Amino acid sequence: MQITFQFRLYPTPEQEQQMNRTLDLCRKLYNRAKEQRDTANNQEGKTVTNTMQQNELPAFKKEFPAYKEVHSQVLQDCLRRLDHAYQRFFRGEAGFPHYKSADRYLSFTYPQPGAVTKTFAKGGYVYLPKIGLVRMRAHRPFDRANVTQINVKRYADGWMAGIGVKVETAEASQTMETAVGIDVGLRTFPALSDETKVNSPRHLRKAEKRLRRAQRRLSRKQRGSRNRQKAKRKVARIHQKVARQRKDFLHKQSHRIVRSHDLIAVEQLKVKNMIRNRRLSKSISDAGWRKFITYLSYKAERQGKRFVQVPAHGTSQTCVCGANVPKTLATRLHECKRCGLVQDRDIVSAKVILQRALEIAA
Ligand SMILES: [Zn+2]
Repeated sequence: MQITFQFRLYPTPEQEQQMNRTLDLCRKLYNRAKEQRDTANNQEGKTVTNTMQQNELPAFKKEFPAYKEVHSQVLQDCLRRLDHAYQRFFRGEAGFPHYKSADRYLSFTYPQPGAVTKTFAKGGYVYLPKIGLVRMRAHRPFDRANVTQINVKRYADGWMAGIGVKVETAEASQTMETAVGIDVGLRTFPALSDETKVNSPRHLRKAEKRLRRAQRRLSRKQRGSRNRQKAKRKVARIHQKVARQRKDFLHKQSHRIVRSHDLIAVEQLKVKNMIRNRRLSKSISDAGWRKFITYLSYKAERQGKRFVQVPAHGTSQTCVCGANVPKTLATRLHECKRCGLVQDRDIVSAKVILQRALEIAA
């Protein structure tokens, strides 16, 4: 199994220039290779394959010496991307491949960094062949010996490295002493059956507020104006920052939960239960909590823990004693007339989810 870590890069101005140049050269190669395929096909009825194009790379580099500035693996990967685009088209999974404009070609990849670099010789840096030792903030530890690929991507607010690492799936553990149910309410913060809640940290809430403010400002700007362009870029920047902070937060929280439990139970989320909202900030938070479930499931698998999804039906309307306790969305408190339990409704839901999971597991 492979997982990908996202770390921010801090290139020097010279390195950044080289990274931008790499993107530009790769994009041009991509478009040229696409043109070659289409022309051969349309005019001569011939098929140009990926292998043929890969074999032409050395001659191509002789003709266009600028390409010597780009690592050969990166160029090979560029051609492979084009080939994948055609394959997806032939399988009916995507439309016909497009030419790429500069704002559509945003990343380049070292597919086998281990073979060509002393990649992770130095902490706090990543070695990108032909670019250099680039400063990188690795805020989570990862196994430097098992790096399978490095993707370098440009965002509105800077550069990120996506580092693919191979991980072994731990032997499934048999113990089930500690189990937890999680109610991932989309309207509120996830609640745990141990009577705690996963609250966003203050800095994240503040950033989200900043994003909403910037979005409101953008909506007031006149269409087509320079100010609107500026406001748009600003929204994109804040949006990315918030998305990243949230992701980091979700990683930490899911790690914490999985580490301290042997069985993790959640509800099956239904798409129709999702709150539809076109506002960006809202869509982040919805997608975020769904992501939270994904993180929980793969971290659980990796650590050999059990991950159980239970049917969502009625979990918010039932008491742990089995009694039916009807509530509207506005009712925040669960009050059971049968057993006398009075508690936050989401916590009770989490407990009910855990009960159901234990029944399934047994
Ligand atoms: Zn009850």
